[in-house]
Amino acid sequence: MLNDDDILANLGDVRARIARAVAETQHEADHVRLLLATKTVSAERIATAVGAGEHLIGENRVQELAQKDEVLSALPCERHLIGHLQTNKVNQALAYVTCIQSLDRVDLADRLQRRLDSIDSSVDVLLQVNTSGEISKFGVSPDDALTFARETAKRDRIRIRGLMTIGLPAADPDLIRPGYRRLREVRDQIRDARIDNVHMGTLSMGMSGDLDIAIEEGATMVRVGSAVFGVRPRP
Ligand SMILES: *Cc1c(COP(=O)(O)O)cnc(C)c1O
Repeated sequence: MLNDDDILANLGDVRARIARAVAETQHEADHVRLLLATKTVSAERIATAVGAGEHLIGENRVQELAQKDEVLSALPCERHLIGHLQTNKVNQALAYVTCIQSLDRVDLADRLQRRLDSIDSSVDVLLQVNTSGEISKFGVSPDDALTFARETAKRDRIRIRGLMTIGLPAADPDLIRPGYRRLREVRDQIRDARIDNVHMGTLSMGMSGDLDIAIEEGATMVRVGSAVFGVRPRP
């Protein structure tokens, strides 16, 4: 397990990689946000990264958000849900996060809208798009994303802020890149449709192994876990 100094050194490396990729691609965004993907990482270690200036945390499971809430809710950090959300966990999820990056179906949007109505609140979301074509992954297909954006936009308590995708788990950049390029194209298509209540400012793509490629293809947010906190124990 990594100690605090390792985490801080890793953080420095990741920030340098991001800066290099942004500089080399003359990126349209003036900066790329770093979200720390903290599944299996203890709240104390997360606190170390927050203390070093990182203020954006992503968790995959509502249960882990609940377990870490006591520590994380006292820290100056924004929490996002980046994993699959079951409809029966909606109420709980909304208690912990300000953004759900994994909105991928209309019945989930309906449940969110209903709950948000009852608590008189709203939530940011990213629409999750499956750009890798793997059947095991969640997310709407790129071809259905525009229709899904139009449908979701009718729910006035849900603020669509952009798109999220999980890249192909491959080592070869030539295999990874087309999915990220596709997400950018879908973003442009939805942006050009000028739908009320839909903003496309965020393109969340890229992880420890491929954040450089994702930034080259236009990511405005990368989600990084193991490059900062070390390899995770196998489930
Ligand atoms: C775990 C995870 C990440 C980070 O993966 P690393 O390879 O550890 O950087 C990013 N996004 C999602 C949705 C994840 O589940």
